[in-house]
Amino acid sequence: MSLIVSKFGGTSMGDASCMLRSAEVSFKQKSYLVVVSATSGTTNLLIELGHKAQGLDWSEAEGLLENIKDRHLKIAKDLQALPNPELNLLFEEMTSISKGIHLLRDCSPRAMDTLVSFGERMSSVLFVQAMNMTFKKHGDLRKVQWLDVREILLTDDRFGKARPQLAQIEQKAKEYLKQWDPQHNMVVTQGFIGRTQEGQTTTLGRGGSDYSAAILAEAIDADTLEIWTDVAGIATTDPRLVPEAKSIEEISFQEASELATFGAKILHPATLIPAMRKNIPVYIGSSFDDAQGGTWIRRDVKSGPVFRALALRKKQVLVTLTTPTMLHTHGFLFNVFKVFNDNQISIDAITTSEISVSLTLDDGNLLSKKVIQELSVFAEVQIEENLSLISIIGNNINHTSGLAKKIFETIADVNVRMICLGASKHNFCFLVSDAQGPEAIQKLHRGLSLVQ
Ligand code: ASP
Ligand code: MG
Repeated sequence: MSLIVSKFGGTSMGDASCMLRSAEVSFKQKSYLVVVSATSGTTNLLIELGHKAQGLDWSEAEGLLENIKDRHLKIAKDLQALPNPELNLLFEEMTSISKGIHLLRDCSPRAMDTLVSFGERMSSVLFVQAMNMTFKKHGDLRKVQWLDVREILLTDDRFGKARPQLAQIEQKAKEYLKQWDPQHNMVVTQGFIGRTQEGQTTTLGRGGSDYSAAILAEAIDADTLEIWTDVAGIATTDPRLVPEAKSIEEISFQEASELATFGAKILHPATLIPAMRKNIPVYIGSSFDDAQGGTWIRRDVKSGPVFRALALRKKQVLVTLTTPTMLHTHGFLFNVFKVFNDNQISIDAITTSEISVSLTLDDGNLLSKKVIQELSVFAEVQIEENLSLISIIGNNINHTSGLAKKIFETIADVNVRMICLGASKHNFCFLVSDAQGPEAIQKLHRGLSLVQ
C-alpha cells in the first residue's frame, strides 16, 4: 500500500464546501497523512491581532479575535460540528494569549509564533470533521486521527523561521505514526508549526505548510507528496500575464526548485529539498477541480526542453558595490558576503567585474542602515529599486549556443539592467524595470515558444 502525504493550502480550507471538496480529494487519493494550512486569510488576521494586542487599546484586538472565531464557527456550523469542545478550547487559549500580549504590551517573535499557530490548529480540527463526513458518505471505515504536529516536528528556536531538526523528526514521526496503520487510519495534522526541544511553539516561515508536508513525507518515507492548491499545477508562466500559459505536465526537481526560488508563488522554495533527498515524487494539483490534472515533479522526466517556464519576481533591489582597491587584491568578495551572512540576508543573483559586484535581494527591507554602513567601510554602495527579476527556466541553458542572442532579440526594446548566467544549467536570469517586467514575460513566452 503506498504512503501518500497530501497537503491542502489555505484556499482549499477556505470554507466548509472547500473543506468537503478537499476531503473528497483525500478520500479518492487514499491519503494517509493530511497536512493542512490555516483557513485562507487567517494567518494574516492572527499576525494583525498580535500587533494590535500590543497597543493600548484592546478593542481592535477584540474585534479581530471575534472575526477569527466567527469564521471558524461558521465553518463548524456548516459542517454540523457544533457544539465543538476542541474548537472552544482553542478559542479560550487564543484569547488568553492575546490578553497576555496586551497586558505585557509585548508581542515578541516567540509570542507571535504561538499566536499564529492557532490558524492551523483550528483548521485541522475542522478538517477532521470534513473527513469524517466524507468517509461516512462513502462507507469508508478508516478512522480519522488528529495529530498535534508539534509532537513530531521539532525545530530550533529561530522564531518566525525555525529550522527543522530532521533526525529527531524522523524518529518521532516513526514512533508516533506506528500506532496508526495506513490500512485503518488517516492522520490529519497541521502545516507551518513546530516546537522547540523546550516545548515552545515555532513556525517555519510564511507559506511553510508545503515545507512541513515535505519534511513529514521524508520522515515517513512516503511514496508521493501531493500539494493541493487552487491552480492545476505549475504553469509555463503566470496566466494572469500570459493567458495562453499552460500547466506543465512534468518537470524535474532542479527546474522546479529554480522556479520556486525565482518567483513562481506556487510552492514554498524549500519544499523540494526533502523530496529530493528521498526521491519522493511531488504532485501539484487543484483541490477545486482535481480532474483538470496537474504537474508532476520528479527526478527523472521524459523531456528536458531548453525553455520550460518563465518566472517574474517584482520589487527586487540591486546593490552595487564598487571599490577601486578590488583591483588585483583578494578578500573583497569575502568581506561582502560576510556582511550579508552576518545579517542573515540571502542574496539571489550576482555578477562581478574587476572592481565591482552587483547583487540582488528579494527583500529590500533587510537592507538596514546598519548593513549599508558595514558595506560602506570597504566599498561605495549604490542601491537601485523597482526592478524585476526575470528567470528563464529550462535545461542546458548555459551550454546552448546562440541562446542569449535569441533571448535578447526577442526583447530587443526592453532595457536589461543585469544578466546572470552560468551558475545553473537550469536558469538564465536578468533584471528589467518593474514597469517593463510584464512586457518582457509576454514577449519571451511567445518568442521562445513556451507553449507548442
Ligand atoms: N498559514 C501559513 C501562512 O499563511 C502557512 C501556509 O499557509 O503555508 O503563511
Ligand atoms: Mg502556500
